[in-house]
Amino acid sequence: MPSKSPFPDVEIPEVDLWDLIFDRKDRDFSDNKVIYRAIDSDRKYTFADVRNLATLFGEGLLNLWDWQKDDVLALYSPNDIDIPPVIYGAFFAGGIVTPANPGYSADELAYQLENSGAKALVTTKKFLDTALKAAEKVGIAANRVILLDAAEKDESDRIRHWTSIRKTPGAQKYYRRRAKPGDLAFLAYSSGTTGLPKGVMLTHRNIVADLLQIHGAVGKWYSTSEDKFLGVLPFFHIYGLTGLVHQMLHRGIELVVMPAFDMETFLKGIQDHKITFIYVAPPVIVRLSRDKMVDKYDLSSVKMITSGAAPLTKELVDTVHKRLNIKINQAYGLSETSPMTHTQPWDEWYTSVGSVGKMFPNMSAKYMSADGKELGPGVPGELWLSGPNIFKGYWKNIAATKDSITADGFFKTGDIGFQDEQHNFYITDRVKELIKYKGFQVPPAELEGKLMENELVDDVAVIGVDDELQHTEVPRAYIVAAAPAGAQAKRAKAGETEAKVIVEWMAKKVANHKRLRGGVVFVDEIPKSASGKILRRVLKERSKGDVALG
Ligand code: AMP
Repeated sequence: MPSKSPFPDVEIPEVDLWDLIFDRKDRDFSDNKVIYRAIDSDRKYTFADVRNLATLFGEGLLNLWDWQKDDVLALYSPNDIDIPPVIYGAFFAGGIVTPANPGYSADELAYQLENSGAKALVTTKKFLDTALKAAEKVGIAANRVILLDAAEKDESDRIRHWTSIRKTPGAQKYYRRRAKPGDLAFLAYSSGTTGLPKGVMLTHRNIVADLLQIHGAVGKWYSTSEDKFLGVLPFFHIYGLTGLVHQMLHRGIELVVMPAFDMETFLKGIQDHKITFIYVAPPVIVRLSRDKMVDKYDLSSVKMITSGAAPLTKELVDTVHKRLNIKINQAYGLSETSPMTHTQPWDEWYTSVGSVGKMFPNMSAKYMSADGKELGPGVPGELWLSGPNIFKGYWKNIAATKDSITADGFFKTGDIGFQDEQHNFYITDRVKELIKYKGFQVPPAELEGKLMENELVDDVAVIGVDDELQHTEVPRAYIVAAAPAGAQAKRAKAGETEAKVIVEWMAKKVANHKRLRGGVVFVDEIPKSASGKILRRVLKERSKGDVALG
């Protein structure tokens, strides 16, 4: 029997995100409440500013480009207070948003643009060159690349500043396109349990549900008038989108927005803005446990730091708590679950330390054995989840959707764990091939595909190995070296030099978080099953004794 959430179910209204946020009757804060504040300037937007700017941008999209229902707008930008009105502007016009990591190379971005079928792309000056290269590759005209920063007059005619879209003459005649709850809001990219990144179809209802589920589980700990969040999680990942962009608008809480992580800005931001809550990924906790700079700042305003996106050890929680008297709790979720499904209740942050917490309202869970049998209470297995925040499927990929969602609505997370008698969930391992470097996804299949383009590589498998010092996994390539030209019988005896060449070659091709930080190990053969599937477990087992090169 699947287990139920210990929280009472919450009611999920049949509305789209715009209705939930801007047209709700029970809003308990004013139009003038500041929601987004830039950490590095005096720019800020109130609730009413966001609604007004979103309306103008949405009207511009409809007027300028005849924006159609379900047209896709891509975001390729670091965090900025302009992102929320751009997202809601796309919703106004009936659009879908696909956020991409600004660290992506032109090829990586082009893959997402092409796969999602994006019609326009929003970026900033710093990322414009790469954005233009990617746009050109997939046939998006340069005048469909929109800049968030830089004054309008500084740009050539072909690149538009987003204010120019808001100002198109005659745009005021358009009405908002109200979405149906089941319509798509986001295409978030994730590799899921296997293969290349896929568009995770998240509907308005999914995000509306997750916001209300979060509220049902931990909402009582936030206060609209007193609390301030620090916006350090990237808005291009669903954890930052739901947890920060949408949740702050929904709850009327101020978010101090950081464009990128930098330890000094982070610490000073907490002190100067008297931040009370922060969502982070584990590397930030690692920094808090060791960095000497921490001692220079007053962090006493912080009530709780919530860590998610990757495992966090009890030792780290203890070290930071001892050092700074800061409480840390864990949350868990996936792109496919909009994302949050579990969090430790804040009064249990220490009694259940090591756990990812309790399952959100309206959700059910079960644990399955490798051969598809439901396991008894407390027995470790693969976690399957169901609820209103489970995604609709993978974009244009029926096979992957069928493999990951059962006919009765359970999503196979690919994570291994168990549940204790107090409803606390623990994540202990992964059955899926995904590697997470500091909370960022590294899909092995993508790196393997790239590495096969290198002439030194005959065959390859990429796995994650633990970097204990940094408390993260790092990607390592097991490579069968290609025979040099002319050598018939024997493979090249590849060594340190070849490994370095390959590691550096990859570093130029992929985003920073996908670099081969776990090095290269040359092998005679990649272990595979009879059907040709890489036996990653075999490599994982041997990896503990291997010395990597590069
Ligand atoms: P993403 O779709 O990028 O959010 O990645 C989801 C995956 O991150 C999950 O399937 C887990 O493997 C991992 N993950 C997220 N939160 C946690 C956590 N608190 N502890 C362990 N793993 C986590």
